[in-house]
Amino acid sequence: MTAHPADPLLSSTTVPELMAAVSAATATGAARLAEATDSHSTATYDDLRRSIESVSLDHPLGDFEAALDEVDNLWLSHAVWFHLPRTAAHLNCPVAVPAVAAEALAATVNTSVDTWDQSTAATLIERQLLAWTGRQIGFPEGADGMFTPGGTTSTLQALLLARDEALERSAGSPGAEPRPVRAARLRILASAESHFSVVTAARILGLDDDAVVIVPVDEDGRMRPRDLRAALCEIERQDLTPMAVVATAGTTDRGAIDPLSSVAFACQEHGVWLHVDAAYGGGLLTSHRHRHRLIGIEMADSVTVDFHKTWFQPVSCSAVIVRDPRTLRHCTHHAAYLNPADTPEPNQIDRSLQTTRRFDALKVWLTLRSVGADRIGDMLDTVVDLAAEVADLIGEDPRFELICTPSISTVLFRWSPPDGGEADRWTRAIRRRIWDSGQSTVAETEIDGRPCLKFTLLNPAATAEDLRVLLDQIHEAGLTVSGAGAPADVNGAAADSSVITSAGVIA
Ligand SMILES: *Cc1c(COP(=O)(O)O)cnc(C)c1O
Repeated sequence: MTAHPADPLLSSTTVPELMAAVSAATATGAARLAEATDSHSTATYDDLRRSIESVSLDHPLGDFEAALDEVDNLWLSHAVWFHLPRTAAHLNCPVAVPAVAAEALAATVNTSVDTWDQSTAATLIERQLLAWTGRQIGFPEGADGMFTPGGTTSTLQALLLARDEALERSAGSPGAEPRPVRAARLRILASAESHFSVVTAARILGLDDDAVVIVPVDEDGRMRPRDLRAALCEIERQDLTPMAVVATAGTTDRGAIDPLSSVAFACQEHGVWLHVDAAYGGGLLTSHRHRHRLIGIEMADSVTVDFHKTWFQPVSCSAVIVRDPRTLRHCTHHAAYLNPADTPEPNQIDRSLQTTRRFDALKVWLTLRSVGADRIGDMLDTVVDLAAEVADLIGEDPRFELICTPSISTVLFRWSPPDGGEADRWTRAIRRRIWDSGQSTVAETEIDGRPCLKFTLLNPAATAEDLRVLLDQIHEAGLTVSGAGAPADVNGAAADSSVITSAGVIA
């Protein structure tokens, strides 16, 4: 039989190839995942760069098995594993099995959820899931939204709607100035601990360089409503226009949840759009024990929810949910070849900043239908408990200083040098040493201008004992990098920091 040019493509005749390729890929990935005991390999940036640059994309291997083997060596054997209990740096979660299967399924069909005639039932599944999420938030019936690749894009879309609502309102006022003049007056208020994507969004939206007004936070990292009110009044006094307030439900570092009700009332008084960035805390919508901490979120105009953080979904999967579905018209563009204005069925592209768009809703749907929202909430409750337990461990351990009581599932702390010396200078080197060991990960960040270490716990299978082991590793790393562990070897510290410098980590 001669090869047909379309042989690599999925069709009724290549179903056996699909089955073989997907099972081989799944088996390879699963085997690596099952045997992994360390968070990642110890290969360096230079090692990996050399091995990947040695591959010539101009000379195909011509065989899937060989290409898969190559990827196994190039990538899988060095991947960072988020299902391991001591991978504790960032907001990456272990993923739900049905969601992983959904990824393969969505790719098999290759649905694009832009127009009805590219998606049909997928559009309805996505719309029902968005409506369901709106109900979890407490929005009135009819709330709508859109899936996006991540919280960054969800917040961008929300702020675009807020901008255009504000511009539309000011255009209607008597003697309205030209659009650029009105746009330059728009201000977004966000707490000092809000995500940097708010500033990114302001830039993309063409707002003024000073468009984002920072509202101070209290000692727990939560926006101060009194300062918010003062800032709103000051903005109006300067004849500027408050376009949106961004409250954060779960800041990236402290997991702080801004006082949503007080913030919402301030927004109502000033007629300002309230966006709640619940990229991290949104999973609490499914929690029986912690749902009450999001009270007030139902007063928002828009909400960011990252399913790929606290809903145990694979990257990428996020949504922006809006109270008033009519506001999504600011994203609508009718192209004659795609979505003429008068079709009877919904075209999701009318509500999206993207055109071709993945059917990410499928993984959430399959997870909710097989595992259920309650189990998601229970798993999240488990990591909230774990964070509290680990914080207690740290609080009682003289080797460490606990920085604050966890709010959701992050734990912030410092290593305390046994000689009572200054802790801050070792933070980066400790994180680096833990990373270089390949066994575990811990994050570094800054709180109140001082460096510290951070666990972000999202793995309900992790135990306090796992984290105790990591704390021992961190202590050992601290002794090594500070030279405290080997008093005779004063150069140890210097040698370590020179390694860090050569890796380009410290500028
Ligand atoms: C992670 C995060 C974001 C960004 O979301 P992505 O999905 O990474 O784009 C925004 N806000 C907060 C509070 C986050 O934690």
